Amino acid sequence: MALMKAAVFKDIGRIETEGRPIPACPDDGVLIKIYACGICGGDVRNYHNGLKGGIKNQIMGHEIAGQIVKTGENVTRFQPGDRVALAPDVSCGECWYCKRGMVNLCSSHKMLGTHFPGGYAQYIALPGEVLSHGFIEPIPEGMSYDHAAFAETASAVIACQDYNNVSLGDRVVIIGDGPVGCLHVEVARARGASKIILLGREKLELARAFHPDHLIDNSNPGEVVQKVRELCGGIGADIVICAVPTVAIQQQAIDMVRKRGRVVIYGGVPKKNEISSLNSNSIHYNEIMVLGAFSYPSTGLSDALCAIASGKITADKYLTAKVSLEDVAKGMEMIENGGALKVLIDPWL
Ligand SMILES: [Zn+2]
Ligand SMILES: [Zn+2]
Repeated sequence: MALMKAAVFKDIGRIETEGRPIPACPDDGVLIKIYACGICGGDVRNYHNGLKGGIKNQIMGHEIAGQIVKTGENVTRFQPGDRVALAPDVSCGECWYCKRGMVNLCSSHKMLGTHFPGGYAQYIALPGEVLSHGFIEPIPEGMSYDHAAFAETASAVIACQDYNNVSLGDRVVIIGDGPVGCLHVEVARARGASKIILLGREKLELARAFHPDHLIDNSNPGEVVQKVRELCGGIGADIVICAVPTVAIQQQAIDMVRKRGRVVIYGGVPKKNEISSLNSNSIHYNEIMVLGAFSYPSTGLSDALCAIASGKITADKYLTAKVSLEDVAKGMEMIENGGALKVLIDPWL
């Protein structure tokens, strides 16, 4: 049996590279040779806290780009040689939410890299269930695999600003200077925001390349609130997007938004610290809307590929490092210590 290299999540804090059989191509699915897979902030969180449902011994990774090398005999939609980008979510197609088109909220939502083997490997086989209810999109002509692998990260940012209607003239504050925060800057600009303020800590210098109107060190959140309110006409921002994996920052967002403004909680936080304490009176008297945003609709991945192809999202600026499958843990460290925005795995290094 031919083997491939894969980086496998063994248990909390332990990822090991091992030889695994190249998966067989399902009759109703495809076999893909992977050329790039991004390391997601969510992967780093799962590495430290465990996969959903306590799943172990799984190949992680879901920001995948590659080329189809085999198609099952029942598959007509794809051909060997097709270049494709993948995103992780697989919906059921039958629940209350799926029937209404809200596939990201599916009641029995599954993911590549958790419920199915993911992209930290040289090959991935997708069963028919993923072809019909997951995300697999052709890579636009001329786009590299690296750029295509970045599309998944952008998908949820585009969807978040769409759901929450960031629009012409909005003064937008983004808390978080990771790749997601920087994406929010680019997407807000594309949607016509009049002022974009990015608050961050570790990656401020990297975030500068995305040219927010104001880039502010958020090491002292109390002082920053006043400054942001002043920059937003003295009344506060129209919308504040929290793109850091901590609840501590959410009250700051409430304090910086204007009356009847929107605070969006973007991105998950570690389960052991998921309870937030917010000033209820601020929300009540100021009619503040506190909203969640998760994942994307079925058009999400293709929207992101278009935004990258058109240059509205400058994928190159995010891709600061590339590692081999043996160095996945090192790649995660680079993300955590602020040295890199997006780290890609090249499984053939
Ligand atoms: Zn991701
Ligand atoms: Zn469903």
